[in-house]
Amino acid sequence: MTRKFNFSAGPAGLPEEVLAQAQQELLDWHGKGLSIMEMSHRSDEFVSVAEQAEQDLRDLMGISSAYKVLFLQGGATSQFSMIPMNLLRGKTNADYINTGIWSKKAIKEAARYCDVSIAGSSEGNGNIAVPTQAELKLNPDAAYLHYTPNETIGGLEYDYIPESGDVPLVADLSSTILSRQLDVDKFGLIYAGAQKNIGPAGLTVVIVREDLLGSVVAGTPTMFDYKVHADADSMCNTPPTFGWYLAGLVFKWLKAQGGVAAMEKANQRKQAKLYAAIDASDFYANPMAVANRSWMNVPFTLADDALDALFLQQAEEAGLLNLQGHRSVGGMRASIYNAVPEAAVDALISFMQQFEKQHA
Ligand code: PMP
Repeated sequence: MTRKFNFSAGPAGLPEEVLAQAQQELLDWHGKGLSIMEMSHRSDEFVSVAEQAEQDLRDLMGISSAYKVLFLQGGATSQFSMIPMNLLRGKTNADYINTGIWSKKAIKEAARYCDVSIAGSSEGNGNIAVPTQAELKLNPDAAYLHYTPNETIGGLEYDYIPESGDVPLVADLSSTILSRQLDVDKFGLIYAGAQKNIGPAGLTVVIVREDLLGSVVAGTPTMFDYKVHADADSMCNTPPTFGWYLAGLVFKWLKAQGGVAAMEKANQRKQAKLYAAIDASDFYANPMAVANRSWMNVPFTLADDALDALFLQQAEEAGLLNLQGHRSVGGMRASIYNAVPEAAVDALISFMQQFEKQHA
């Protein structure tokens, strides 16, 4: 068996140790004679797995008891509607910052429930630099301020946390959660689809300040009410048990690596060397403002896009998978989440340099 280097944006590569442990436990979890997938979510065994995963996530991110941690389904996309349904709390306005494709999707969905004010936008600069704090036009009466700390497709990332005063700050952390240290106390709500830095697709993590719960828009389905999930410890129905279990293994793996602080150091190095290689060449380019370059998703173009197909084919032959950019933007994109080792980035850089020598 040869595992290749996987630069997929999501579902993304998982730590090999985690997959090996899941494989080893697959048929017979801890001598119980059945797999974790085949157990009742209400069994003592599964409840202990679920509680441990939550505790480990709390430890890793420093989440205080003022917050509920929910393990849901429906992807980050369902959160685009659950957020207004739950956080409007009688208000009719919410502030959103637009920095690209994912913020726009969140805005479009929220507009079905409330008046959305665009508090800031990077559209004017072609989504290559995020609006600064001074440029934001914040409404002190807004129900919340929503932003996308990392635009997975554009590769555009905030270098600051917006200051929203008493207005709860809501962040789509799908592609950057656990990649570096973060002060959770600054947020009203954080959400993330699991399939990048947490575990397999099918699980969505929501971290929400408890005092924001309990007042939903009329007609909100039960399954879209955070308080229902919070009161039932995310078990008001059958939760995504396998995803939850695997996320727990990833959290243990993260702790063994030295936690989020160690990830931050590794991710800092990985992105710095990849952008440095791109900048050192006239053959490759990344247009983002340097301060807003994403650590997790590194899009780049070749000087001649007629070479794109050959680049991807030869990369694949060299064991470097999933480097094709998102279908909406083209070019290349290397997603270098926590589970992508530094050796993968080194291999990509030497492949890029060789390819350039042959084709420049
Ligand atoms: N937000 C961001 C920033 C994303 O990267 C993605 C998925 N790529 C989504 C939302 C949508 O997530 P899901 O597919 O889990 O609904």
